[in-house]
Amino acid sequence: MSTAVVLGSSSVPVSQPAGHCYLCGREGESLYRSLSDRLWTVPGIWSFKRCPEAQCGLVWLDPCPVAEDIPLLYENYITHDHPTPRQEREERLRMRILESSWGLRHSPKPDLLGRFLFKINFIREYAAGSILWISPEWKGKLLDFGCGGCGLLKRMRSLGWEVCGVEPDPKALAVARQQLALDVRSNLNDFPAAEFDLITLSHVIEHVPDPVATLKDCASRLRKGGRLIVATPNIKSWGHRYFGEKWVGLDPPRHLMLFSPRNLAQCAERAGLRIENLRTSSRSASFVWSWSHLIRRLGALRGVPAHSLEKIRSKLAGIVFQALEHSLLGKDAGEEIVLLARRD
Ligand SMILES: [Zn+2]
Repeated sequence: MSTAVVLGSSSVPVSQPAGHCYLCGREGESLYRSLSDRLWTVPGIWSFKRCPEAQCGLVWLDPCPVAEDIPLLYENYITHDHPTPRQEREERLRMRILESSWGLRHSPKPDLLGRFLFKINFIREYAAGSILWISPEWKGKLLDFGCGGCGLLKRMRSLGWEVCGVEPDPKALAVARQQLALDVRSNLNDFPAAEFDLITLSHVIEHVPDPVATLKDCASRLRKGGRLIVATPNIKSWGHRYFGEKWVGLDPPRHLMLFSPRNLAQCAERAGLRIENLRTSSRSASFVWSWSHLIRRLGALRGVPAHSLEKIRSKLAGIVFQALEHSLLGKDAGEEIVLLARRD
């Protein structure tokens, strides 16, 4: 059993060397060295290794925090927050697009604004991405693994799904149960086997120490024929190629592994799932650009004034980057991998 070293109010997680590739066992080569936490305040110095095997190319954190100390990485992490009035307005508009144009609105009166916005390609991608591109043809019972603030669960509940979630953070769990009246539990094992038609993992798989075991556990909760959607940062993205070690998607020390479409598919196949669709999306490219740019300029995102010229400039550049990545997108170039798999 490890014990964390306490420095002031922050604790350094105990870590162990991670020299070899989780997927193929090859010894890793150094990719980035001497990185610190750029988003929050976890102390420590971190590196990333990359698998030299061309068919693999997995990237992972080295050293890697031991399992007992992983909660220390999330002490200041926000999994729940009150939305600002602007976020509330955005959410209402998003729901109008989804409800009116996704073919799911029960009201006989057509929502013309929602339908118009749905016709604009990148707006549709943004709205559909907020429900992980769940098809309007699918119905049933959904589990969101690592549901955080429950945004996806709330949207899918209003679109007619029966929804449940798994969330280890006790504060987020309390908000989900008491304020949102959602069936959210702290452990996947609290749900029965073969229960769900769809399981989603949105930006979760890169945080877990054993992705194949996590996917296997999720697969066991799917009904036969049930689907699983995984979204995670793409190490092959344009953003990573351009920003390198400053790319926000690395997020040391919380992102333990970073995937390409190919090796994410390999994890799902090892978990006994059949891949139905594998692609990348640039819906988050604007935010990735803006945050990576600020990390490059300022070293971290902490202490950036909300309305500084630097921040506004990086947001505008981010919008241009998103438009370029979206329109010129190569198969593997988007900032986010989206994998759809099925339990046969
Ligand atoms: Zn490998």
